[in-house]
Amino acid sequence: MASKPMRILVGCKRVIDYAVKIRVKPDGSGVVTDGVKHSLNPFDEIAMEEAIRMKEKKIANQIVAVSCGPDKCQETLRTALAMGADEAIHVKLSDAEYETLQPLAVAKILSEVAKQQKADLVIVGKQAIDDDSNQTGQMIAALLDWPQATFASEVTVVEDKLRVTREIDGGLETITVATPAVISADLRLNEPRYATLPNIMKAKKKPMATTTPSDYNVDISPRLKVLAVSDPPTREAGSKVADVDELITKLKDAGSL
Ligand code: AMP
Repeated sequence: MASKPMRILVGCKRVIDYAVKIRVKPDGSGVVTDGVKHSLNPFDEIAMEEAIRMKEKKIANQIVAVSCGPDKCQETLRTALAMGADEAIHVKLSDAEYETLQPLAVAKILSEVAKQQKADLVIVGKQAIDDDSNQTGQMIAALLDWPQATFASEVTVVEDKLRVTREIDGGLETITVATPAVISADLRLNEPRYATLPNIMKAKKKPMATTTPSDYNVDISPRLKVLAVSDPPTREAGSKVADVDELITKLKDAGSL
């Protein structure tokens, strides 16, 4: 890696914007997406930012953004290009196919793209904030048989390897992985930049290829069936206690102590 700058593939999922209040469809088959603001998945912004910083440090020389989904994903990819990706690949799906798209199918597509693109590194978000699956990165690593460093909060290059600090339940863990590898970006990895107006303009001219899952021989039919989607139970109002003694009595009565 020290000798050769990397080619980085970054997963860019189009998701309902994090600030939107999610509404469940009346028939419980999913959530309302029509007329709802969508954005680049926040963890993918972090993944993209990390790739751009690697390019700025000359550790990487080419960043390819890839999104699997309907035509509107091209807007998402333009955002990624405006941030600093060099080129984009839109793997085109119908709206209906996107609704039932699952991490295994995305992982199969992304691993084929990684092979075709001769990527040295794949960076994905730790999870997409719509389905919160947290599976795609791990599955890409398994399919490619590449090392994986998930939940990354710091990535540095040491000789010809990547040293990755990971956020784990007990705190932090640091591992070293050889490339090619898969990294998934956690919240503290960096603070993504905003695209500037000149860069938004420049992004319009950057190359974007369109492909389909069949170009990669990937069957995207769902393996999991969604039985029902429902709102979480509404939270009951809390109550105030006068002092610590009353709190302890209440907790004891409730069996919590
Ligand atoms: P998930 O396993 O669904 O939580 O997604 C983890 C990461 O995989 C996301 O943050 C993206 O980087 C990537 N990913 C998932 N779905 C897609 C998609 N449709 N297109 C591109 N990248 C995706």
